Amino acid sequence: MLLRPNPKPSESLESYMIRLADLYGYTPKQLIERFHIILDEADQKLSGALPGNLRQLNLYHASTSSALRMECFELLAEKMCKGRLPILELAVSRSRTRYATNHHSLFWRGLDIPRFFIRRDSIPVCPRCFEATDTGYVPFYWHLHIVRACSKHKCKLIEQCPNCSKKLNYIDDGSLQGCSCGTEYRLMPVEAAPESMCNLAATIQEQPAVESSDNLLFFLKDIHQLFGAILWYYSYVAERGSQRSISDESLMACIAFFDQWPLSLRMLLQNKIETAIMLADRLFSETTFQSIFGNLLMLSRRVPTQALSDNPVLKEIFAYLDECIHADNELSEIGFCLLNGYEVAALLDTDSEQVARLLDEGKLPAAKRMKSSAAFDPKRPLFPLKSTFNVWLARFQSRLSNRHTYLSRW
Ligand SMILES: [Zn+2]
Ligand SMILES: [Zn+2]
Repeated sequence: MLLRPNPKPSESLESYMIRLADLYGYTPKQLIERFHIILDEADQKLSGALPGNLRQLNLYHASTSSALRMECFELLAEKMCKGRLPILELAVSRSRTRYATNHHSLFWRGLDIPRFFIRRDSIPVCPRCFEATDTGYVPFYWHLHIVRACSKHKCKLIEQCPNCSKKLNYIDDGSLQGCSCGTEYRLMPVEAAPESMCNLAATIQEQPAVESSDNLLFFLKDIHQLFGAILWYYSYVAERGSQRSISDESLMACIAFFDQWPLSLRMLLQNKIETAIMLADRLFSETTFQSIFGNLLMLSRRVPTQALSDNPVLKEIFAYLDECIHADNELSEIGFCLLNGYEVAALLDTDSEQVARLLDEGKLPAAKRMKSSAAFDPKRPLFPLKSTFNVWLARFQSRLSNRHTYLSRW
């Protein structure tokens, strides 16, 4: 195969494969059959590791056999004559990085992208991008739920065919021309996208945001912080139900939340404290942190890291809790509420084994005395917030995670 197209900027592997197949008059399925013949000649074991369809082709779809799939890609890249075929460069693989509690992610061109953001059923398109026929291709960014507008044409991406209402999916259709009913992408009507949606799309693609605004999302120094902040919003702030899946509506609410940052966070947390005070049927020293704030500490770690200097969400949470604990009003009551071992580990950026050790050595004040024979149960709420916070201040601050990262603002 001597002819090959050059990959377009940010092009997805599947889009590239369709263009490559088109060049030889193949369907994508026929192209993959050609690949199988090439692999068969080299090593039959490898041929078995390559799926028969485009939908399953990408590296991250291979679960146990991803190393073997990688070998296939390498071999194909080498065997294609005239320089390597850019398969590996375009592929999306699994990543070891976990966000928050345990959100998996995928790795693409140096980015760890939460799997929660990856579309499964449909992949929308910008019709305007297909108007000039020779440039029709799909950038990988359109595979992300959080990219819902074309930053170049300022219009919404189209998810559904305007004629047959089918969800668009160029991979299933094996075509970059249009919907399987024959309606061409370039002829589909477009609708202007809200400015904030365009800004988000631009920021994700590492282009400057258009509008000057104070929104936190558009000023983060690392794209992974933006991924982390949006993921955090959907798992902690958004109401359960449809608000927790990514749609135009929920994403606009998410962007609006960060417009008012950090005021929006402080109001949210203050509301939770006030509700807890209002409904209190026991002392705060018998109330759990969980019952007031839910899973706040666990969901705010690793978005994308634990270090306060790299985690804008956790930094504001620390700042707010610090302020409340030391306030001269009723908010200071939360200093007495109880953390469990996992939350202590999250606060100190350590693990529950070390929490057990600290407790054992008497370096972590507990609200109740533990029998020395009893096994440590990290689920048990036992540690007052204020004294745990003081342990953090006294022993667990670090160069990247310290009180200075948030106090220096005032
Ligand atoms: Zn466009
Ligand atoms: Zn259609």
